[in-house]
Amino acid sequence: MNCIFCRIIAGEAPGEILYQDERVTAFRDIHPVAPTHVLIVPNKHLASVNEMTGEDETTLGHLLTVARLVAEQEEIQASGYRLIINTGPHAGQVIHHLHMHLIGGQRMRYPMG
Ligand code: 5GP
Ligand code: ZN
Repeated sequence: MNCIFCRIIAGEAPGEILYQDERVTAFRDIHPVAPTHVLIVPNKHLASVNEMTGEDETTLGHLLTVARLVAEQEEIQASGYRLIINTGPHAGQVIHHLHMHLIGGQRMRYPMG
């Protein structure tokens, strides 16, 4: 298995896992851009949103439920946070295992793009 996120999910590579269930894993980003920077990923390897099918809808919807749980644990639910899924070169996706960034704990710049 040469996907770093698959290895973190399987416990074969180090990662600060904050939440895990049968479908989804959440762990801290190794290079945080804000006080809270967590990656929430499906346990099933999908390279990006481009690979998803209808079968994955429930799992990918669950990423949002886990984002809400982690935001609560991190105490940033009220102050707010940003959820981002980079897809492909123009978005700067570098890890090809679908992941949602949960970023918060500070006021963020806007607009994006
Ligand atoms: P992307 O640009 O693909 O959306 O973001 C990939 C993210 O994965 C980056 O924020 C990067 O810091 C993070 N990352 C890359 N390698 C590792 C790793 O080995 N462990 C963890 N926890 N995060 C990683
Ligand atoms: Zn993977």
